[in-house]
Amino acid sequence: MAALAQTLEGLTRRAILSAADSPRLQHLAYRFGMNVGVRRFVAGETLEEFLGVARRLNARGFLVAAGMLGEGVQAERDAAGVVHDYCHLARRIAAEGLRASIALKLTHLGLAIRAGLALDNVWAIVREAQRLGLFVRIDMEQSAYTDATLEIYRRLLSEGMTNVGTVLQAYLYRSQADLAALAPLRPNLRLVKGAYLEPPDVAFPKKGDVDRNLVALIEQSFAAGGFTAIATHDRRIIEQTIDLVARTGTPPERWEFQMLYGVRPALQDELRARGFSVRLAVPFGSQWYPYLMRRLAERPANLFFFAGALWRR
Ligand SMILES: Cc1cc2nc3c(=O)[nH]c(=O)nc-3n(C[C@H](O)[C@H](O)[C@H](O)COP(=O)(O)OP(=O)(O)OC[C@H]3O[C@@H](n4cnc5c(N)ncnc54)[C@H](O)[C@@H]3O)c2cc1C
Repeated sequence: MAALAQTLEGLTRRAILSAADSPRLQHLAYRFGMNVGVRRFVAGETLEEFLGVARRLNARGFLVAAGMLGEGVQAERDAAGVVHDYCHLARRIAAEGLRASIALKLTHLGLAIRAGLALDNVWAIVREAQRLGLFVRIDMEQSAYTDATLEIYRRLLSEGMTNVGTVLQAYLYRSQADLAALAPLRPNLRLVKGAYLEPPDVAFPKKGDVDRNLVALIEQSFAAGGFTAIATHDRRIIEQTIDLVARTGTPPERWEFQMLYGVRPALQDELRARGFSVRLAVPFGSQWYPYLMRRLAERPANLFFFAGALWRR
C-alpha cells in the first residue's frame, strides 16, 4: 500500500514538473495573477514588497536569502538587466542593514546562452556583494547545468571570492563525488534533496535513497570543514542533523538550517525557538510560475490549497 502511494505521488510529481515547462499553462497562470495563493510562497512582485517581508522575518530572528524569480533567460540583454537588478537589490539590503544573503540561478544570468556570459554576469554580482559585505549563493538547477555551475563556482573561489557558495542535490548519484572533489577548497554548500525532473540514469528514483544520500552528504560536508546549509523541511533529517552536530562538535558558525518562505512555518518557528540559526529563502518578482510548480510538485496536496484559492476568487 505504501509502495502504491509512493508510486502515485511520484507520477503526480512528474506530471506537475512537466506542466512547469508548458508555455500555455504559464500564460494562463499569469492571467490569473498573483492572488491565487502564490503569496504564500512568494514575497511579492516588487523589491519593496520583498524588503517588507525581509524586515519582518529579521525582526522575528530569521536570516533571509533573497532570490529574484526568473530562469532560462534567452537574450544577453535580458541577462544584463538581471545583473543590474541584483546589484540594486544588494545595495538596498546593505543600506537597510538587513541580515540577508543573495541567491541566484545561473540560467537567469545567461547560462543557457553560454557559460562565459553567466560567469561574467555572476562575477559582477559577487564582486558588488563582496564590496557590500554580502554573501551570494548559486542555486543548482537541472543536471544539464551541474558541471558548468560547479566550474563557475570553482573559478570564483580561485579568484579569491570568499563570499560565494553553491548547492549540491542529494538525488544526483554524482553528488558525493562532487563534494569529495570540492572538499579541499573548504566549500560553502547548501545541501538539498533536489527539485527538478531527472531521469533514473542520473538521479535516484526512490525517495528513501535520496533521503539517505542527503544524510550522508551532510556528514561528508561537516567533515570537509567548510560551511554547510541544511536546506530541508524533513523533520527526521533535521533531527538527525542536530544529533550529528552534537556528535561531531560542529560549531554554530559552520552550519545553519535553511527553509523556504511559506513552507512548514510552524517547524521554522520551532527551530528558531530551540535556538538554531534558520535562513528562509524568500523569492520575489513577476516570473513566479516555474517556482510555484516546483513547490506544488514537492507536496501535491498544495494543489488543493491553490484550487481553493481559485474557487474563492
Ligand atoms: C532554502 C532552500 C533552497 C533550495 N535550493 C534548491 C536548489 O538550489 N536546487 C534544487 O534542486 N532544489 C532546491 N531546493 C528544493 C529542494 O531540493 C526540495 O525540493 C525541497 O526542499 C523539498 O524537499 P524537503 O527536503 O523539504 O523534503 P520532502 O521529503 O519533500 O518534504 C519534507 C516535509 O516537508 C513538506 N514539504 C516539502 N515541500 C513542501 C512544500 N512545497 N509545501 C508544503 N510542504 C512541503 C513535505 O510535505 C514533508 O512533510 C531548496 C530548498 C530549500 C529549503
